[in-house]
Amino acid sequence: MTDAAELRRRTAELLAAHPPTTTDRLDFLRARFDAGLAWVHYPEGLGGLGAPRSLQAVVDAELEAAGAPDNDPRRIGIGLGMAAPTVLQYGTEEQKRRYLRPLWTGEEVWCQLFSEPGAGSDLAALGTRAVREGEDWVVNGQKVWTSSAHVARWAILIARTDPDVPKHAGITYFICDMTDPGVEVRPLRQITGEAEFNEVFLTDVRIPESRRLGEIGDGWRVAQTTLNNERVAIGGMRLPREGGMIGPISKTWRERPELRTHDLHQRLLKLWVEAEVARLTGERLRQQLVAGQPGPEGAGMKLAFARLNQEISGLEVELRGEEGLLYDDWTMRRPELVDFTGRDAGYRYLRSKGNSIEGGTSEVLLNIVAERVLGLPTEPRTDKDVAWKDLAR
Ligand SMILES: Cc1cc2nc3c(=O)[nH]c(=O)nc-3n(C[C@H](O)[C@H](O)[C@H](O)COP(=O)(O)OP(=O)(O)OC[C@H]3O[C@@H](n4cnc5c(N)ncnc54)[C@H](O)[C@@H]3O)c2cc1C
Repeated sequence: MTDAAELRRRTAELLAAHPPTTTDRLDFLRARFDAGLAWVHYPEGLGGLGAPRSLQAVVDAELEAAGAPDNDPRRIGIGLGMAAPTVLQYGTEEQKRRYLRPLWTGEEVWCQLFSEPGAGSDLAALGTRAVREGEDWVVNGQKVWTSSAHVARWAILIARTDPDVPKHAGITYFICDMTDPGVEVRPLRQITGEAEFNEVFLTDVRIPESRRLGEIGDGWRVAQTTLNNERVAIGGMRLPREGGMIGPISKTWRERPELRTHDLHQRLLKLWVEAEVARLTGERLRQQLVAGQPGPEGAGMKLAFARLNQEISGLEVELRGEEGLLYDDWTMRRPELVDFTGRDAGYRYLRSKGNSIEGGTSEVLLNIVAERVLGLPTEPRTDKDVAWKDLAR
């Protein structure tokens, strides 16, 4: 049994063998992975030690105190939060060994090729086709809103392999090499001025059978693992007190007494308490995760995260008065990472609009909570037993 003492001992051993001050950053990260101290709850040989997930904090604290480099998790959020748990659950041994190490060290960035122009909330309606040809699958279609596609080496991709069965049944899950011929990435500029996401056109892209993840036709089930993890990754980030959107506005409030009014004070206090409740609920959710994969509870966290970010950043713009209307930079940047709380108040206000859309819209998450948490009647579904090819699109 790997307990906290054992993890401290192994961390000390890692630090002694690879002193952070004299070791190359990547060498250190690789050695950390190989020592099983990357994500301690993963199996041995895959960056972990099969230890309780809650003990990760022990390792992180020791490494931080020693000034060790981290893997810059914000840059590789889709890989860490979504691709990795899916590869772990459904991948073959060979796939796990090939993909997880460079994913965790940040050597290979991942993106998510799920949404399409005609399939967002109704993701199972997707039309990108994958047709088997010998040992390859030939993929044609268009994806949209693909965050980080411009920096990604790999993508998790869902495509239709059988149009003759109902929409949920004919989908298969693949790993797509973003550097392959036929993958074209075009920037999409968003309300913040940046283009953090993209359109991705797939034309005769050949994906070898060895990059199929899960069974043929079982892609919808595999995708549920990705989506449940996505909501936790977006809404359930571990934060210190005042670590999220509530941090910058609280700082402004303390430093700028001339902006204060009684009304704003009442509203800020209410949001501060709600943000703290959401943060502590996230801690509880993470403790539940120790027992296994996230369920629909992640939807609740993500809902709260989106609503609070929008309300808090809106209040911040209001608090700043005329200053709040200024915007720091409209340049079309292609950011490598997304920092929801970064830059100035105007950026936070505009960026948070996407929080209630990305990773499932708030309306759709409310449906999930209604059906799977509260047990309310489901929405009528008339297309459940109809072949995908016969659906109106
Ligand atoms: C910043 C950002 C980053 C993103 N990154 C990625 C990415 O990396 N990869 C990826 O694959 N996708 C990504 N997305 C896409 C995102 O998952 C979709 O935008 C989202 O699922 C909604 O789909 P849609 O845009 O097609 O809207 P639609 O599904 O067309 O929805 C339109 C409106 O109808 C409502 N609606 C739809 N169905 C229902 C229903 N059953 N009940 C009630 N209301 C409903 C919605 O809530 C919404 O208000 C990103 C989106 C954003 C904003």
